[in-house]
Amino acid sequence: MINRREFLGSAMALLSARRRPNIIVILTDDLGYADLSFQGSKDIRSPNIDRIAHGGVRFTSGLVSHPFCSPSRAGLMTGRYQQRFGHENNPIYDPANETAGLPLKELTLPQLLGSAGYATGLVGKWHLGASPRHHPLKRGFSEMFGFIGGLHDYFNADKNATGNERLIPLERNGQPVEPTGYLTDTLNREADAFVRQHRSDPFFLYLAYNAPHTPVQASEKYLDRFPNIEDKKRRTYAGMISAVDDGVGTLLATLKELKLEQDTLIFFLNDNGGPVGVNGSRNDPLRAGKLSLCEGGIRVPFAACWPGRLPAGKTFPQPVISLDILPTALAAAGIQPPPTLKLDGVNLLPYLMGQDRTTPHPRLFWRTGGGVSYAVREGRYKLVKAGDAPELYDVETDVSETRNLATVQPEVLNRLLTSFQQWNSELVPPLFPMPPVGRQR
Ligand code: CA
Repeated sequence: MINRREFLGSAMALLSARRRPNIIVILTDDLGYADLSFQGSKDIRSPNIDRIAHGGVRFTSGLVSHPFCSPSRAGLMTGRYQQRFGHENNPIYDPANETAGLPLKELTLPQLLGSAGYATGLVGKWHLGASPRHHPLKRGFSEMFGFIGGLHDYFNADKNATGNERLIPLERNGQPVEPTGYLTDTLNREADAFVRQHRSDPFFLYLAYNAPHTPVQASEKYLDRFPNIEDKKRRTYAGMISAVDDGVGTLLATLKELKLEQDTLIFFLNDNGGPVGVNGSRNDPLRAGKLSLCEGGIRVPFAACWPGRLPAGKTFPQPVISLDILPTALAAAGIQPPPTLKLDGVNLLPYLMGQDRTTPHPRLFWRTGGGVSYAVREGRYKLVKAGDAPELYDVETDVSETRNLATVQPEVLNRLLTSFQQWNSELVPPLFPMPPVGRQR
């Protein structure tokens, strides 16, 4: 016999064990590696984003699968190297173009979670195709607020600006809406409303900020927080990040208020390295930035928290990649991916919980421009072909990629080259070209 209290206790345990966790992926756009306080920034404070890193796991070798916007998002949404299905370039903003976008045969994270009963919401930037066939509501999201292109003005939109990606109307579920104030504030409100609306469901929120991508624009409220930054672009950029940080703070407070903290797995990351010189970002101590396969293009601020489930205050030094988010989210939700789905990402939970002490990825690969540039990471070594010849670095001791070991350790160089060629043979050519110069993002 068990008494009433024990019965209720075990019933509650069962219920909480059955509660499938909410999944939140917070993605920033063109944020510099050095530009959050948990990443060591001295001039930009991000106390709320820091709470995700400090309350969970910070990935010190957190990587994305591409050094620019759209292919990085294609990898994130599918858990697969996007070059396997030709998504190697940014799609042109053209609603009539039914090729330039995430191929329709690819399964997405919101499709997989949605078919298991999750409410699935996109708030922010899409950039995975502008045709109606590629619309987020056709690609797994049950709700959407934001914009379809690769960037957006933070204050204005124009319903007549059909060809101007920067000014196309914001939309809610396919219907145009008027802008109401600073765009990041609006996205913050929409994200909070989504969480409150779905407090009783398991939900997936993909909060894809366009900040701090160009145009570099912030409202006075945020500019006023950085009187000590003299450079106007850097100050505005800092304000853009501070607005994101406010939104993350609101989201965390709402999860606490709704008692959902322990039922929510949150990822925070950026989509590619900062475009130094363009938006005011800094990638110190990394080499180069956006568009490059040097560390500055692909190593990003990256953290995950799940209070009560993942350890808090842990750093995880082994390489992980944005492709891991999909299988990790599915595992957290207790969803088996279809057996025919060839995923490149892995479920990180056993590694983060200390149940598996091996490395999640013996090797990771990158390719841009159909093979113009490529890279391989194997343990401490990284091969990168960014210029004429492949270079080799020990990125554990030389994160800034300053000492080329190609002639010192030719056997390592050749081993990594061979593994790249094997992976490369599994890929297809780019399905669509980069947009013309002047329309690239
Ligand atoms: Ca980007």
